Amino acid sequence: MKAQTKHTCSGCDLPITDRYLLEALGRYWHEGCLKCNCCECKLGDIGSTLYSKSNLILCKRDYLRLFGISGVCASCNKPIAAFEFVMRAAKNTYHIECFSCQVCRQRFRVGEKFYFYNNKVLCWDHYRTEKECERPTDESTMEWKAVALNGGP
Ligand SMILES: [Zn+2]
Ligand SMILES: [Zn+2]
Ligand SMILES: [Zn+2]
Ligand SMILES: [Zn+2]
Repeated sequence: MKAQTKHTCSGCDLPITDRYLLEALGRYWHEGCLKCNCCECKLGDIGSTLYSKSNLILCKRDYLRLFGISGVCASCNKPIAAFEFVMRAAKNTYHIECFSCQVCRQRFRVGEKFYFYNNKVLCWDHYRTEKECERPTDESTMEWKAVALNGGP
């Protein structure tokens, strides 16, 4: 006659003889063996959420850190995964490979300066060009405004 079926812990491969066992991801675990593969925090506690991806068991924080989306690239408009390296300029985030002058696509080398103007990342040459093009031309604006189209009755 067989005693009650023993479950084997997926974490340590030992039989579970505790009063409580955890069932997660279709497997059984000792209370202390269900841990986040990243930070080793216990996931057996009540209220903790467990995430699983590519054979990893993760707590919510690590899951978001590794697989969450950290934002959208201001250059190509594609999402940036949280584990990717990013460049930041002002409030914008860029893929490393997208971080280049938005006019000539020249990449910046380490230590090289970039300029942020009109929500665009620019090299020094194009920063100068853009700034000159957009210099306000007050006089001509005034003249255009003076032309009335539907003036008379
Ligand atoms: Zn175990
Ligand atoms: Zn964790
Ligand atoms: Zn991008
Ligand atoms: Zn440029």
